Amino acid sequence: MYELIDSHSHIDEIENTDSVIAEARKNHVMAVIAVGTSFLSNQRIMALAEIYPDYLYPALGLFPWNIADEDFQDNMNYIGENIHRAIGMGEIGLDYSKGVKERASREDQQSVFRELLATAKANNKPALIHSRYSWKDCFNITQEVEVEKAVFHWYTGPLSILNQIIESGYYISASPAAEYHEEHRAAIKAVPLERLILETDSPVTYRRGTEFEYDSRPADVVRTLYAISEIKNIDRVTAAKITLENAVRLFNL
Ligand SMILES: [Zn+2]
Repeated sequence: MYELIDSHSHIDEIENTDSVIAEARKNHVMAVIAVGTSFLSNQRIMALAEIYPDYLYPALGLFPWNIADEDFQDNMNYIGENIHRAIGMGEIGLDYSKGVKERASREDQQSVFRELLATAKANNKPALIHSRYSWKDCFNITQEVEVEKAVFHWYTGPLSILNQIIESGYYISASPAAEYHEEHRAAIKAVPLERLILETDSPVTYRRGTEFEYDSRPADVVRTLYAISEIKNIDRVTAAKITLENAVRLFNL
């Protein structure tokens, strides 16, 4: 058999944590990395990590669209004070979709991202990066700050930037959208297996036309495994083993 790590879950947004974790354990999930996005979610995740030690590992972060929040500075302070207790810095990054840019300009997003990456680097923590429509800037800034450990989560960007990500020693993560999303599948096909880790981004709702629609849970990382093993044309046990080793290496588990 095999074991899996869900390297990116917003588990604080899912009710009944006990049953969600029990279901994950039953589906071979041996650890979940819980990512924060705001002052409130970071505090929730740190509290959950104390309830599920050696299973739920916290990462602290700030979504670009939360830059406009009233408690933005409180969150920045909280991250600085608690990052040593977390496994990584995330979810952080840039988002150039229209709705987000209306809340936070590119310039503001970039300066916050730079500051958070510098904190990650100073604390030797890997960065979990959200790069929607901002792949090039995300990569360039990560390089400029000389961050050594990073994962570009649910990567759907151009393959030319993916090559730079790989050359720089960074990783990408695959989500359950690997079952159907064209750009995501192309990235998974192109990345060496040694630079790929698995995630769910739960509770994101995945849908494929009229075929299916579901709110994801950490247990759905099994779907990600099945999809990547199909794309890479390797058996599931081998795919699980290598992606697990990658996550252990990246997060120093
Ligand atoms: Zn996320």
